[in-house]
Amino acid sequence: MPFAHDTEVALHAAALLANTAIEPDSLTSVAELTALFDGLGYSGRHDADTDELAEVRALRPRLRELLVAERDHAVDLVNAMLAETRALPQLVRHEGYDWHLHCVDSDTHLVTRILAETAMAMVDIIRAEEMSRLGVCADGGCTGVVLDLSRNRSRRFCSTACGNRNAVAAYRARQSEQSEQSGG
Ligand SMILES: [Zn+2]
Ligand SMILES: [Zn+2]
Repeated sequence: MPFAHDTEVALHAAALLANTAIEPDSLTSVAELTALFDGLGYSGRHDADTDELAEVRALRPRLRELLVAERDHAVDLVNAMLAETRALPQLVRHEGYDWHLHCVDSDTHLVTRILAETAMAMVDIIRAEEMSRLGVCADGGCTGVVLDLSRNRSRRFCSTACGNRNAVAAYRARQSEQSEQSGG
């Protein structure tokens, strides 16, 4: 594992969240936000109301911009986000999670916590010169964020849907090539 657990969790959450904006938008209700919140193992304040939903939805383009940014631009964004959220890194331990970083109080708005945690995770990525772990989906028509923390860096698509669609397309291309070669 190249990064601390909380760094990887924060990056996964940010990429997942940014990718909910891919059409068809999959973050359009408070119920969907709550499912995401529970699924990603967030702790702390969760208002579960339409204001919070609107804030998190509006955050997605900023997350995407940061995650796929070129390194020096990412530094500018991270520094601005850390200042904006008044991030104050503190090691904490709670509910089955060993020591990890929290950067803002747990009663801070969810959107601010996500922003601060994503910025802190990117601090690790930038310092480790691992920007290549992040990129845009290899599907030509998709703007999804790809986060690849695997050892062999084999991930090219943002989702299994994009991966499968391209696998099918590649298979069809091979089939038609073969039938052309056999004179069919
Ligand atoms: Zn925590
Ligand atoms: Zn994709």
